[in-house]
Amino acid sequence: MSTPIIIIGNGCAGAECVITLRKHGYNGPIQMFADNALPPANPMLTTYYASGRIPWKTLFPYGTKFYERYNVEFHYNEPVEELRNTEHKIHTAKGIYDYSKCLIASGASAVRPPIPGCEHQRVLTVRTPEDAKMLMAATTARPERVLVVGASMVGIKVVEMFHNLKTHVTLADLAPGIFPLAASQVCAAKIEEDLTKRGIDLLFSAQLSAIEEREDGKLDAIFADGTHNTCDYLAMCVGVRANLGFIRNHSLAVNRGILTDEQMRSSDPDVFAAGDVAQSMNLSSGHPAVIGLLANAREQGEAAGLGMLGKQAPFPGSFPHNITHYFDIDFVGIGDTRQFDEEKRYEKDGQLCQFFYTKGRLTGMNTLGKMLQSGVIKNQMMKQNLGNKMPEGTSGYQEILMQECAMEEAGWKEVTL
Ligand SMILES: Cc1cc2nc3c(=O)[nH]c(=O)nc-3n(C[C@H](O)[C@H](O)[C@H](O)COP(=O)(O)OP(=O)(O)OC[C@H]3O[C@@H](n4cnc5c(N)ncnc54)[C@H](O)[C@@H]3O)c2cc1C
Repeated sequence: MSTPIIIIGNGCAGAECVITLRKHGYNGPIQMFADNALPPANPMLTTYYASGRIPWKTLFPYGTKFYERYNVEFHYNEPVEELRNTEHKIHTAKGIYDYSKCLIASGASAVRPPIPGCEHQRVLTVRTPEDAKMLMAATTARPERVLVVGASMVGIKVVEMFHNLKTHVTLADLAPGIFPLAASQVCAAKIEEDLTKRGIDLLFSAQLSAIEEREDGKLDAIFADGTHNTCDYLAMCVGVRANLGFIRNHSLAVNRGILTDEQMRSSDPDVFAAGDVAQSMNLSSGHPAVIGLLANAREQGEAAGLGMLGKQAPFPGSFPHNITHYFDIDFVGIGDTRQFDEEKRYEKDGQLCQFFYTKGRLTGMNTLGKMLQSGVIKNQMMKQNLGNKMPEGTSGYQEILMQECAMEEAGWKEVTL
């Protein structure tokens, strides 16, 4: 028996790597290690399950028989404690295992800031199937008041979920406005106006400093300026942190995630990384970054699988591309929407679309209201930024402009700025 390929983590990145290995003829042993006993899950479905919109099994898009189907030896409830890549070994509480190649696909965990009271059982996070169960229990309790901390893509889904239950919701963030990493100031102001009209309280530039349980059982969220917010549950949606604890002694090049090349190889050629734990090229900024998106996890998992088999299939990098659907509104943010030289703005029936240019190149976009073909625009932005790697005969920039023209045909009006 040959030495197995080991995959650390059973999310979408790990699952895609397994599928790619099998699809491309690898018949050798694959061992997958996880800190749970579940099939590969999709974290973005957490609020859909918690609000009763999808059943439990839908959280697992690769099916409940994934490990059998792809002949994977699944080491459940056996988290990796240490990677000793110089010895080609991983360590868990149950044993030491050799690998030929290793994929790190351990994803990220929801951050709980180190403030007093943050571990209270009614302070919820939104990431894992276990979180989904806790959230569902909270919705079933029909709370009067919920505080959502973190005006992020995840935060807005939680706001929507509790608001639809007629719970009074407050959304708070340290940033001065909503979606600080994805929405322009104009777009953010429009979103905030809409949320306020719906009766959602907004607290920006607000730094949470402690959470205390009161005598009546309610939670008191205390902010740095001394103000309080009383709630039954607090949802902590302040971002995620890559799961890297098992990498010790600087054995791999790590920044916010594991630094990878275009084939998702780490600084050790036999160790790959994919998904929310990997730091690859952000084509918007030109610097490596962790871009925690499902599409990235899937494409990177596939690139890593091909790389392990010695096949060239680079993942050149990507743009931050946030799409969220809430209260029947589509918000899309691509690239950098805060720093630009030029803006083109379109409006139609209260909807907004903005294109942002830097040095003549399209570097960011926001839409609010109606989903445009944002995937097409992102792909064109990628081609444009990959320069000479663009397929011959295409011009990403021209195709983007055509997209803009199509908007005018569809009744969008350019706003004079
Ligand atoms: C509410 C929500 C909404 C989202 N919405 C979107 C969206 O609209 N669009 C989008 O593109 N993305 C969205 N995302 C992000 C997307 O879900 C993630 O980027 C993607 O699922 C990451 O996949 P992954 O395989 O890298 O990590 P994960 O899914 O986190 O999987 C990693 C697995 O590894 C396990 N693990 C961790 N440590 C260890 C260890 N030491 N040993 C073994 N196993 C370990 C973890 O428990 C986990 O099961 C959303 C996420 C959330 C939470």
